[in-house]
Amino acid sequence: MLDSLTNFLYIVAAMLFVFGLKMLSRASTARRGNGISAIGMLLAIVTALVSDNLIHWPWILIGLALGSIIGALAARLIAMTSMPEMVALFNGFGGIASLLVGWVEFQRLYSDEMLMSAPWNDLLIIGVTVLIGGVTFTGSIIAWGKLSEKMNSKPILYKGQQVVNAAIVVLVLAAVLLVSIGRPLIVSGKQLEFLSIYPVLIALGVLSFVLGVSVVIPIGGGDMPVVISLLNSYSGMAACAAGFVIRNNVLIVSGALVGSSGIILTNIMCKAMNRSLANVLFSGFGSGGGVKSGTDFVGEAKPISVEDAYPVLEAAQNVLIVPGYGMAVAQAQHAVQELSSILQDNGAEVNFGIHPVAGRMPGHMNVLLAEANVPYDQLREMDDVNPTMELVDVALVIGANDVVNPAARNDENSPLYGMPVVDVDKARTVIVFKRSMNPGFAGIDNPLFFGENTRMLFGDAKSSIQSLAAEFKD
Ligand code: NAP
Repeated sequence: MLDSLTNFLYIVAAMLFVFGLKMLSRASTARRGNGISAIGMLLAIVTALVSDNLIHWPWILIGLALGSIIGALAARLIAMTSMPEMVALFNGFGGIASLLVGWVEFQRLYSDEMLMSAPWNDLLIIGVTVLIGGVTFTGSIIAWGKLSEKMNSKPILYKGQQVVNAAIVVLVLAAVLLVSIGRPLIVSGKQLEFLSIYPVLIALGVLSFVLGVSVVIPIGGGDMPVVISLLNSYSGMAACAAGFVIRNNVLIVSGALVGSSGIILTNIMCKAMNRSLANVLFSGFGSGGGVKSGTDFVGEAKPISVEDAYPVLEAAQNVLIVPGYGMAVAQAQHAVQELSSILQDNGAEVNFGIHPVAGRMPGHMNVLLAEANVPYDQLREMDDVNPTMELVDVALVIGANDVVNPAARNDENSPLYGMPVVDVDKARTVIVFKRSMNPGFAGIDNPLFFGENTRMLFGDAKSSIQSLAAEFKD
């Protein structure tokens, strides 16, 4: 009876997760979706705790209190620009938690001397949990280090790297196999003490840590967001495996949901960058500079002052704002929101064109603009705004570069060629807000800056936009 009730409540929790996830796919319902998923998680945790009579309450309460304090402080204190690294760190915590679940369960079997009779598939799952959990933990720590610039974000490459990585993978798989056999190794009738299976599990954990580091160090800082969505997926798979280890249905379901949605997100990111996952993982691209464009563009960029930009915007009826990584660096989102309101009060229609890989993490621009209370219905996807670009009077490019580079459309020699971009060059007038003629993440020139209809407003995006807003107020 209790079992049926527990499973029923788990199903309700799983349904809340699914509805919550569905709502996360639209900006207007995302906040509610997050809340619904959180209620599902609360229900799952309370049900798991109440239905298990082996729970040591003092430990649970200490963990609950510590976790809640750390979570609440992180949510309040971490700046929006630090979100990518925080997500990386949290993925890592998910991985290490799953690894610990696998380890504790193995110890239980080992100390009860049940190992000899434990089914091989249970032990295999323990091995897989430790493997994925370990890789996720150290991989996420490296991702966090690169994103927070605590370590050099350039790819770390050395001769024979692929061979070393392949060797670690072989060792790790051998260790998983030995763990799943689960018996101390007997050679010529003698038990090999030094190869008893417990040290093999410890070795598996250590090798997984090494593998996590070695697969993430060759990836450049700019590509970390793709890696994060992949590690996010791994943390889900590790949790799913941990669910099998402790036979908890709701952990299996929630882990599978995180694992599969992480893979879908990784796929979306790769498509938006027109790159394959293999290319991101093995090419050492994404160093944040230094990659050269195929074609050199000659021409002169035409600067514009705030005073001269004002009448152009004052007369505009249809304005498209395209934010990029520079908006995050300048923390210009509130100023942008203020300018957008001023333009609307002035009678213009204002929309935001959001490129899926603008910034440095999935949804980066959406998060920043939501923080500044830009209404969700003004946020339009790239595919929505491109067909009507000719109707746009003024496109304001705020710290975006690669995601508005027309070479991605026109120049077969460009490394960006084939990546869909926001076609701002087709708008009647383009005003680009950036500090210099420096390239963006891909390290390549941008012919947009030399276009007949483009004007460059040099300076920090936040102060330029605040000055423009001040012109309107005057
Ligand atoms: P971007 O190409 O990196 O360009 C950002 C621009 O912002 C720079 O050209 C920089 O020029 C300008 N900038 C920086 N600080 C500024 C400030 N304070 N004020 C004004 N401008 C400032 O950015 P993006 O167009 O958003 O493109 C994103 C790139 O990251 C793409 O290549 C994408 O493939 C890559 N990427 C994104 C993700 C993701 O998840 N979003 C994942 C992996 C890779 P100045 O220095 O001259 O000011």
